[in-house]
Amino acid sequence: MSRIAYVNGQYVPHLDAAVHIEDRGYQFADGVYEVIPVVNNKLIGEEGHLDRLWRSMEELKMAEPMKRKPLEMVMREVLRQNGVENGLIYLQVTRGVAPRDHPFPRDAVSSLVMTAKKTSPEKAEAKAAKGVSIITVPDIRWARRDIKSVSLLPNVLAKQEAVEKGAYEAFQVDEEGFITEGSSTNAWIITQDGTLVTRPTGNDILAGITRADLLKLLEQKNYKVELRPFTVEELQNAREVFLTSSSSYVLPIVEVDGKPVGNGHPGSISNDLRGIFKDFMNN
Ligand code: PMP
Repeated sequence: MSRIAYVNGQYVPHLDAAVHIEDRGYQFADGVYEVIPVVNNKLIGEEGHLDRLWRSMEELKMAEPMKRKPLEMVMREVLRQNGVENGLIYLQVTRGVAPRDHPFPRDAVSSLVMTAKKTSPEKAEAKAAKGVSIITVPDIRWARRDIKSVSLLPNVLAKQEAVEKGAYEAFQVDEEGFITEGSSTNAWIITQDGTLVTRPTGNDILAGITRADLLKLLEQKNYKVELRPFTVEELQNAREVFLTSSSSYVLPIVEVDGKPVGNGHPGSISNDLRGIFKDFMNN
């Protein structure tokens, strides 16, 4: 089955899918996006993702490209046309095409692009069973990280540095020495006494949908959770470390800046939480 993309009202072969060179997403990174996981034909956290997409657009005073109900239908059609039952759907909205000039164009018409791809549950499981390594890098991003903007250059540089050092992800560190989040993931530690710690939402991190769903599950199951920033030192001395995201779910971290976390294998609590999250997605 060949891949199909949705571009401004049309379903086109992925290879031919294009927007104009004066699209403001291309010129100014004047756009927002979402990535929604698909598990057994179900869009996981769909409501949260679309709430966040609309919030990102509102924060940037960007017109909605279409109403929410038809957009939900287009997402399903993109999944159907691509035969994706397990994978990811990507949505991007930009302020549209206009002669290059910084101010918002008058009567801007937002562009909407969607793609879908299959992912391999087996590969994801193998990765989680082994755990991944991370590095820490300075957080050099702007002050509105709560907006899911396509302006991702600092995230790209952080991830590239991780890859070059043989790591999977980079946790970013603010000027006070506290972890903000990963380049495309939220950061968590479990302290020696078994308390889960993750940074509260605000302008300095993206309010992850996986993070929010996991927090609800943790509350139901009476886990001890603290919403507070944690330092690099706490990260290095944690009993367990893991990350959350739409594409990784709950992923154990076994090495930080070249040093093992615990015994260098995925921790038992992280493994339990991955299981709990997978049950949640499958029900
Ligand atoms: N932080 C950043 C910077 C991200 O790009 C992502 C991925 N969207 C996340 C956190 C995780 O968010 P979610 O669980 O909604 O995928």
